[in-house]
Amino acid sequence: MSSDKIPVAKPLLGKPEVEAASRAILSGWVTQGPETAAFEKEFAAYVAAPFACAVSNCTTALHLALRAVGVKAGDEVITASHSFIATANSVRYLNAIPVFADIDPQTFNIDPAKIAKLITPKTRAILAVHQMGMPCDLKAILEIARKRDLPVVEDGACAIGSQIEFDGKWEMIGKPHGDIACFSFHPRKLLTTGDGGMLTTRNAEFDKKFRLWRQHSMSVPDAVRHSASQVIFEEYLELGYNYRMTDIQSAVGREQLKRMPEIIERRRKQTAEYNRLLSEITGLKTPHEPKWAKANFQSYCVRLPDGCDQRTVMDRMLKDGVSTRRGIMCAHREPAFRTEPWLPGNAADLRESERAQDRCIILPLFHEMTGDQQKRVADSLKKACARA
Ligand SMILES: *Cc1c(COP(=O)(O)O)cnc(C)c1O
Repeated sequence: MSSDKIPVAKPLLGKPEVEAASRAILSGWVTQGPETAAFEKEFAAYVAAPFACAVSNCTTALHLALRAVGVKAGDEVITASHSFIATANSVRYLNAIPVFADIDPQTFNIDPAKIAKLITPKTRAILAVHQMGMPCDLKAILEIARKRDLPVVEDGACAIGSQIEFDGKWEMIGKPHGDIACFSFHPRKLLTTGDGGMLTTRNAEFDKKFRLWRQHSMSVPDAVRHSASQVIFEEYLELGYNYRMTDIQSAVGREQLKRMPEIIERRRKQTAEYNRLLSEITGLKTPHEPKWAKANFQSYCVRLPDGCDQRTVMDRMLKDGVSTRRGIMCAHREPAFRTEPWLPGNAADLRESERAQDRCIILPLFHEMTGDQQKRVADSLKKACARA
């Protein structure tokens, strides 16, 4: 049976992406150029953001976003430990200190009530994550932030196409509700360009900074020099980076963007099917979607019944040919963070974060997954839990 193993995730890529990549390659301009500009415009329109700036990945997007809102060495940034390590790392790149707030066990997202208690005079920003594509409680977070005049950066790495209800209307994550939202185009996410990222904002000054910093803070972008009719000497205005997205990636991204409505519709149907199939397992908790959220269901995460050992269940399912992953990691438990001198005071009560990592598993979910495959996963999980 394990001969046709079911993977946890699989990107949807095909002929349109292949043709777009060749178009970019054959054009002779392969780094950041016209395809990237077009992708930015189309992405901005998709999420309804005034500005969108493409970068090399979401980690670099987070780095630029935090720098833009003024995070500096020694500042505190309130965020979730229960996230991919890139979230906390982006804070460390600026030598700032991540202050970890615990999560709401139902949504796996930062608990706004916990944020308020962690604000100090050193707090410079809130970095909120839309974990696994489930929108976090932005309204409550923004309310807390506005009261203290704190900028909000959204780690929307997983949340392309997810929606949130704002003033009675459904709006895309990235619109932007906070100050800046960041997206990832890694193959584990719904839209992929191999690697890639995007920043959206309504702030023209921020957008200008992103464009400067992603290309070494070069005063005149290479595309401008390339098309100039006279010689131009460029200057490097401040510390910058090479965080560019290539035109090959952007060409692929434009095709992927067209597929988003179809991909999300299918995810939501597959999620409903999982919910139905898994309702038979006593004590298992399927994903919770608040009334004001419409998730893209990038990942389908379940909480195991009490007494079911996580590793045992995962092992048994793997023997059935079903790949799974454990719950989302916690940065404060990793060697890279564990021994940091600032950590003890800033990772006090993360009970729910740790429990989610230890008691949850992520089931396979991808566009081309069939109903039969979903049934196989559900049967395997049921068997694994029954024997635990
Ligand atoms: C994937 C992910 C990132 C990092 O994205 P990259 O594009 O791989 O740099 C950051 N935050 C979260 C929550 C993620 O899931």
